[in-house]
Amino acid sequence: MFYFDEINGKKVLKSTLLDGANHFFTTRGYALSDVVSGELVHPTQTHTSHIEIAQIGKSDYPDTDGMILTNKEQTLYLNFADCTPLIFYDFEKNIAAVSHAGWRGTAGLIAVKTVEKMRNEFGCENIKCAIGPAIGFCCYNVGEDVYRQLMATVKNQDGLAEIRNGDIFVNLKAINKRQLEEAGIKEIDVCPYCTVCNNELFYSYRKENGTKLRHCAVIKL
Ligand SMILES: [Zn+2]
Repeated sequence: MFYFDEINGKKVLKSTLLDGANHFFTTRGYALSDVVSGELVHPTQTHTSHIEIAQIGKSDYPDTDGMILTNKEQTLYLNFADCTPLIFYDFEKNIAAVSHAGWRGTAGLIAVKTVEKMRNEFGCENIKCAIGPAIGFCCYNVGEDVYRQLMATVKNQDGLAEIRNGDIFVNLKAINKRQLEEAGIKEIDVCPYCTVCNNELFYSYRKENGTKLRHCAVIKL
């Protein structure tokens, strides 16, 4: 379940699934520096499904849309405006990750690739995932090519898309959830907020005509 909290008087969104982990999603109207102090690490997101591991002292992560955090010194964040934010946490290994799943990242199975990298490189066996605020099933219409690429990523396509008045609508958060379920992840919390319908709280690339402003998904070990 998702709930609002405050840091330094600013509104943030959290998941009960990750309670105990230092995580949150920012809302609009303030800077990340208003709610975080300490060393920030952040990749250059370009809608890939490439994942890196955050290194202390390294600041250049080109074409990277998923990042794994294994140290306690850095605070990891990625930026969003409609795309799906995914925060992963393994409480036993104390390893986290954040991934950026727009339609390209989702079509490239970035959620599953993040989980596989956490499993293969760090032995993570109990990964929980919070799927944050993103464009909802209510608002996300796509072309046939995108629809086909997204549906090809899951075995069970039930309920993930529908046609309304001749337009194809897809449920991007649910597709990411289904991918993760099919990869064996059992604990997943999905945020109910649509960034278009709740534009007073979150940034929306579509609603705000390609805004450059972003909210963030943030994790610190
Ligand atoms: Zn909506």
